[in-house]
Amino acid sequence: MLPSIIAIDGPAASGKSTIGAAIAEKLGYLYFDTGVMYRAVTCVALARAIPIADEAAVTALAEQVQIDFLKPTLNDGRQFTILADGQDITWQIRSREVDAYVSPVSAYAGVRRALTAQQRRIGLRGNVVMVGRDIGTVVLPEADLKIYLDATEEERARRRHRERLARGEQVEYEAVRQEIRRRDEIDSSRAVAPLKQANDAVYLDSTNLSVPEVIARVMQLVTARDC
Ligand code: C5P
Repeated sequence: MLPSIIAIDGPAASGKSTIGAAIAEKLGYLYFDTGVMYRAVTCVALARAIPIADEAAVTALAEQVQIDFLKPTLNDGRQFTILADGQDITWQIRSREVDAYVSPVSAYAGVRRALTAQQRRIGLRGNVVMVGRDIGTVVLPEADLKIYLDATEEERARRRHRERLARGEQVEYEAVRQEIRRRDEIDSSRAVAPLKQANDAVYLDSTNLSVPEVIARVMQLVTARDC
């Protein structure tokens, strides 16, 4: 029996989505990117002009908004389609504005309570690869395999910069790096469910590894963790 619940945590742009999606595909598991939920709440708050500093209003939004994950509804390079109250926000959640505000939104205890409950329900069904910041520590502490995926800040910024350029965005490397640093600082220092490696997680540094190499390492861990 292979591990049924696989948790992958790590800082911004450490490759969690790429690796998580690939592993899920190999195993025939559900891939679930929890960052999308925090991004969706942030995106809708901005669209509805809810002040990000208004904790009660942002929390109420997180409790009410219906976030749906669908198979890609358009053939435009998306991994999946994200709906918020029925509206397609798949690309909007990747905007620089959302990047700038998502960490303050994610630091609100009520927002985390609302989203963590949904994530846990989905995760406990099993056969899932769930990625985020607090999956191994808070959302699914009983996960069968926990991986903490890391890379140096420079390498992570390089990867995210390349991704943004490929999407046709005009952005400087240094701006991407500052953005990542700022988000990691907020995510690691918040009071509730900060980004940190679970005690029983395997640390994997992908700085000098290619995507296929990281996938191979994770697959080794998956098969070694036969339970
Ligand atoms: O993984 P991604 O960069 O898309 O996540 C966006 C933001 O969502 C993170 O910077 C973090 O603030 C928040 N997040 C979180 N807990 C998770 C997943 C994401 O706080 N489990």
